[in-house]
Amino acid sequence: MSAYRSLLQSSDSVVYQALVGEELRQKSGIELVPSENYTYPEVLELLGSVFTNKYSEGYPGKRYYGGQEFTDVVENLSRERACKIFRGEHANVQPLSGSAMNQAVYLGLLEPGDSILAMELSHGGHLTHGAPVSHMGRLFNFVRYKTLADGSLDYDHIADLARQHKPKLVLCGYSSYPRDLDYHEFKRAADAVGAYSMADISHFGGLVAGNVMANPLDAGFDVITTTTHKSLRGPRGGMIVCRQELAKKIDASVFPGLQGGPHMNQIAAVAFTLQKAAVEDFRVYSQQVLNNAKVLAGQLMQHNVALVCNGTENHMMVVNTVESFGIDGREAQDVLDRVGITANTYEPILSQAQ
Ligand SMILES: *Cc1c(COP(=O)(O)O)cnc(C)c1O
Repeated sequence: MSAYRSLLQSSDSVVYQALVGEELRQKSGIELVPSENYTYPEVLELLGSVFTNKYSEGYPGKRYYGGQEFTDVVENLSRERACKIFRGEHANVQPLSGSAMNQAVYLGLLEPGDSILAMELSHGGHLTHGAPVSHMGRLFNFVRYKTLADGSLDYDHIADLARQHKPKLVLCGYSSYPRDLDYHEFKRAADAVGAYSMADISHFGGLVAGNVMANPLDAGFDVITTTTHKSLRGPRGGMIVCRQELAKKIDASVFPGLQGGPHMNQIAAVAFTLQKAAVEDFRVYSQQVLNNAKVLAGQLMQHNVALVCNGTENHMMVVNTVESFGIDGREAQDVLDRVGITANTYEPILSQAQ
């Protein structure tokens, strides 16, 4: 046991026991929550490092406190690596989480009351895409598109909604949807009404970085946002990659608009994560994630499990538990928990939203 471990054990045995319990749980169970991952030991090291102690309000070269020669190194690296890997012009790596990064984009590019076209939560969108329970849902006028009965998206209908509601922002991306998207279609819908185009690739950001899923910036999108802890395998956090033209607005919106001091331990770990994601090994890993997901989806369907969209093009499978087993998602999640398989359902969030 490391010296810090035994120190923790003796100074707070209750927290220590919870840590040990969680370590065992993660090792012994089968983890199927698609937003979770096992991060690198180097990331854990950086998260637990003295970068935690540092206040770095501002941006590299323009901070409010002294002593930034090393924090500037890791933040500059994170930004450069983010631009390189996602083929973008400008990156902001300070958002403390995925929710904060999306809020920063909305608040930086739009005015309260403006309309945003986004995916309905119950059809795969994220809470921050305007769910009525989220504060963003109260601040902006979200118009929501849904999937068709077979799970596909009707891009003509999405373009019609854009023409009808004249949103200032067309948002795509999802938390629970098993298909890749046609970003050119979304871009066309946005361009036709002069709206910003934004893709929230939080869930599959790693698969985009690994070049096994489409990159919205290649289709000319204005902004992408992604969490860093899901398929990217890094520390918990969010990042925004955008066109240079929007850099000032986005940066001012993150700080001082929405946040104070960035978490430099997280940003150092993001720099490391992006270096790992830029090499061939990570592409192979991403391809393997897709291969594994396809095999699992195929096997589930062979055993008469009903999957939305009849399979998967990413790392997610959405099971229709009512059709497959006659139980709701919550019940299925509980049954799986009892046999050491961790999965998730949207229902608790949805019932709060109603
Ligand atoms: C996970 C996720 C987020 C939010 O991330 P948090 O770090 O949990 O706040 C935002 N958008 C999408 C699409 C997500 O999947």
